[in-house]
Amino acid sequence: MGPPGAGKGTQGELLARRLGIPRYSTGDILRQALRDGTPLGLEAKRLMDAGELVPDEVILGFIGEALEHEESTGGFLLDGFPRTVAQAEGLARLLAGMGLELDAIVTLSVNETEIMKRLSARGRKDDLVDTIRRRLEVYWAQSKPVLDWYADSDVRILSVEGVGDIDEIQAHILDRLAL
Ligand code: ADP
Repeated sequence: MGPPGAGKGTQGELLARRLGIPRYSTGDILRQALRDGTPLGLEAKRLMDAGELVPDEVILGFIGEALEHEESTGGFLLDGFPRTVAQAEGLARLLAGMGLELDAIVTLSVNETEIMKRLSARGRKDDLVDTIRRRLEVYWAQSKPVLDWYADSDVRILSVEGVGDIDEIQAHILDRLAL
């Protein structure tokens, strides 16, 4: 978890490869739905371009589908999800139904100046300055409370500084996960 531009995708990909497990990124799933030209993908695009969140039911539907056969495998990594308390509650229901529990949450912290710098340099369609500001607002209003929600549970929350060398950050994550 972490704000937009924290490096969730970059670190998530490295970590999933290292652990040999699949990574499910809701951002990637939505962008794929858009490329496929599905009605959900087109509706999602409008919201993503505006820096708003895609409705919880849509996201939970995608995640439910993605996790359908994961109970018997060696684990998986979720990236960009859950982003609202309702999604965290939905995930808890899904996992309970599968007889699974979250092992850990990795949070990446990055200051706002660095975030603005990274996202403006990335140049994705939703990386325009006003949209970035909106995404940060949405993050603080809707996604930060998810961490407070988990703080009241037994899940391990591992906070890692997200600024610095990519490989060093990955090493810190592995270290904190005790892998
Ligand atoms: P970033 O981490 O840089 O914000 P993502 O690829 O994770 O990039 O997300 C891009 C956009 O996709 C978000 O701004 C939002 O509109 C949508 N999105 C991704 N994940 C979710 C989610 N779990 N719930 C709602 N919307 C989401």
